Amino acid sequence: MVKISERMKKISESPTLATSAKVNAMKAKGLDIINLTVGEPDFDTHSSILNAAVEAIQSNKANHYTPTAGILPLRQAIVDYHQKYDGVSYGVNQVIVTEGAKNALYTLFQVILNAGDEVLIPAPYWVSYTEQVKLAEGVNVIVEAKPENEFKVTLAQLESHRTDKTVAIILNSPSNPTGTIYTPEELKEIGEWAVANNILIIADEIYYRLVYNGNKAISIASLSEEIKNQTVIINGVSKTYAMTGWRIGYAIGNAEIIGKMVELSSHSTSNPAGPSQYGALAALAGPQDFVEDMRKAYEERLNFFFPLVQSIPGFKVSKSKGAFYLFPNVKEAAEMCGFAEVKDFTLALIEEAHVALVSGDGFGYPDYARISYTVNNDLLAEAVDRIKKFIETHK
Ligand code: PLP
Repeated sequence: MVKISERMKKISESPTLATSAKVNAMKAKGLDIINLTVGEPDFDTHSSILNAAVEAIQSNKANHYTPTAGILPLRQAIVDYHQKYDGVSYGVNQVIVTEGAKNALYTLFQVILNAGDEVLIPAPYWVSYTEQVKLAEGVNVIVEAKPENEFKVTLAQLESHRTDKTVAIILNSPSNPTGTIYTPEELKEIGEWAVANNILIIADEIYYRLVYNGNKAISIASLSEEIKNQTVIINGVSKTYAMTGWRIGYAIGNAEIIGKMVELSSHSTSNPAGPSQYGALAALAGPQDFVEDMRKAYEERLNFFFPLVQSIPGFKVSKSKGAFYLFPNVKEAAEMCGFAEVKDFTLALIEEAHVALVSGDGFGYPDYARISYTVNNDLLAEAVDRIKKFIETHK
């Protein structure tokens, strides 16, 4: 019998990736499933990025180990990017390029947490935060945001969950799964509280250029020098540039923390893939018009899709402001169809209606479901029809 560590017994597989894998297996059997589980743009990576990566491979400049922190031009492009979009200055020694933002977070938790250290996690939260904190022997302190407060936690809530073991808070604005965005005033308040209590702000800003209908997201680090020094920003090219498969993310912030992340990565990954780094360089430093085209396309989809989801019996949903998800409360719909738990409802939707959503339990809100609008409008409309028919048949 093989032996598995106690550590692995404490975590579960990413429910979004697990549901996606189930759907892909069903699709491979020839079933026509509409997959609304995926957290990635359905756009192609732009040709300027492809060409840069191909050129880097063919000229042999991308095909060997790179510095662990990433090639210097890419780190410089990341620094320039933050200067350009947020007016915040960093040095290249404050950046580490990683295998996706996911790996930046993983490495960061390993570097900052001792056993028993607490991390404040506003819920609903992205599924991997809690598992990564557990892998670093940290303790998740979940702070439940209220739907009536647009799924944002308040300072009073944070303060009531703070202890002398609180080491960090994760802020994900715009959020996966709700698409909510904290205002500059709310961020400032939280930022100043974190500075006053020496709590590290982990700002996951991976969706901050995907915002819609006049809503704006800002980087918390832009609010003051003190807040900037208290913050490690996590970002990457996966979502903004439709490059999820390239696996390039980064962390930018306190030089000592970044330095330790580089030390750890020198033993875990050595460096992110060379060709991907050249692709990411072209993405960040090159033309940006296609980013705006994609943003507009998601905005149009959201405006088309939201009223359709609102019209599903038993779905209670508010309009998201960013990212590419809706997060309806579907408990009533589940109950109407005879399911006590939403996760059984979403499973039945996959198996019978051939529409895949992710049940909200992995995000800390078991009465909800996450719907990605990362397919075209025809499929979105067809998905809603299928769900309505399913409810009609089962109620
Ligand atoms: N952070 C959030 C909130 C996400 O939704 C994701 C991906 O789904 C990531 C981080 C990780 O992105 P990646 O590892 O593809 O860069």
